[in-house]
Amino acid sequence: MPTAMAGGAMQPLPASAPGDRFSAERALVHLKEFAAEPRPIGSPTGDRARDHLAGRLRAAGLEVEIQRSVGARSAAGPATFGQVDNIVARLRGTNPTGTVLIAAHYDSATMGPGASDDGAALAAMLETVRALRDGPGPRNDIVLLLSDGEEDGVLGAEAFVREHPLGRAGGVLPNWEARGVSGPSLMFETSAHNARLVELFTDAVPAPRGHSAMVELYRLLPNNTDFTR
Ligand SMILES: [Zn+2]
Repeated sequence: MPTAMAGGAMQPLPASAPGDRFSAERALVHLKEFAAEPRPIGSPTGDRARDHLAGRLRAAGLEVEIQRSVGARSAAGPATFGQVDNIVARLRGTNPTGTVLIAAHYDSATMGPGASDDGAALAAMLETVRALRDGPGPRNDIVLLLSDGEEDGVLGAEAFVREHPLGRAGGVLPNWEARGVSGPSLMFETSAHNARLVELFTDAVPAPRGHSAMVELYRLLPNNTDFTR
């Protein structure tokens, strides 16, 4: 997440930054707490990450629930099903006109701790809500979806969109995902009819980066994300 500009490059803010600012150093503390081991769907380590993250969000003053469901993916080839525990957290806005739903997945692949994919996004979420609560508070409702089972077929997102009232309500949805472990954050995929959203993105983000060619490259890859849902 962009935090400050110095000499044209993004510079992370230290832990001593003012409370209403996003500090990457503060986010890093969260990352080290929960992203030390693989946490695939259905694993004891996944359960521990779920409880840790839900606890952190409750301590930050959010309304938190665990949505337990069965997610399903039916596409060409074998279908995939799995029990998922999505973490859904809500921060009420001061005068809401709608909902901003921020999504990132807390499960990881089996072979690594997923510090980048998607732990960094979760750490950024925790630091973002802390900074928001330190300021005057957001106007619109903020809903955080920390989804489960992304790596096994975006199962958590599927269950959230199909079953959860907040998933069916609609709104603006930034989905924070990861590929690779370095470099700036990129905006690489949007929904259709995106002119107004792209305008908003370029106005709101200090150093916006994105290119319409990236989504075409991404479409060539055998991957998808919760955003697909
Ligand atoms: Zn991911």
